[in-house]
Amino acid sequence: AVGVIAVVGRPNVGKSTLVNRILGRRASVVEDTPGVTRDRISYDAEWAGRDFKLVDTGGWETDVEGIDSAIANQAEIAVRLADAVILVVDGQVGLTASDERIVKMLRASGKPITLAVNKVDDNASEYLAAEFWKLGMGEPMSISAMHGRGVGDLLDAAMKTL
Ligand code: GDP
Ligand code: MG
Repeated sequence: AVGVIAVVGRPNVGKSTLVNRILGRRASVVEDTPGVTRDRISYDAEWAGRDFKLVDTGGWETDVEGIDSAIANQAEIAVRLADAVILVVDGQVGLTASDERIVKMLRASGKPITLAVNKVDDNASEYLAAEFWKLGMGEPMSISAMHGRGVGDLLDAAMKTL
């Protein structure tokens, strides 16, 4: 069976944009409303000649009720079913309390985690990634899902954990 990588993180950090970037032009998963992915959606993907499954998830807001908690639950299920996780955070927004709560739950899952700091759109913005060392998840890998910057290195790192 091929390995499964779940892409998780708060709403609006760019998870679906990243998944779309990895899949190339084969799928369009960014919703009409940015920041909204209602379900847990699995895609067949390939990197460096290796097949894997990539799971896009809705935003993982913690401490919420109603429909948002249902979305969070899909993210938890996705992590449980995955072999590895890419945690996406937003470099432009910076580290949030939600990111820290998500990290706690991911740690409890025991799954290998690769940390992606998205929206680092150019070299001048590289410094944005540094504060995420605080999460204690190892090297924060800066990417721009929108422009493709750093995505290859991120995939190399994540595939090593599969
Ligand atoms: P999700 O909720 O985590 O799936 O986030 P989306 O993929 O829907 O993206 C949320 C918003 O962030 C959209 O307006 C995207 O265009 C924007 N976005 C995603 N990736 C990047 C990026 O690398 N740089 C910038 N500047 N914006 C991005
Ligand atoms: Mg989404």
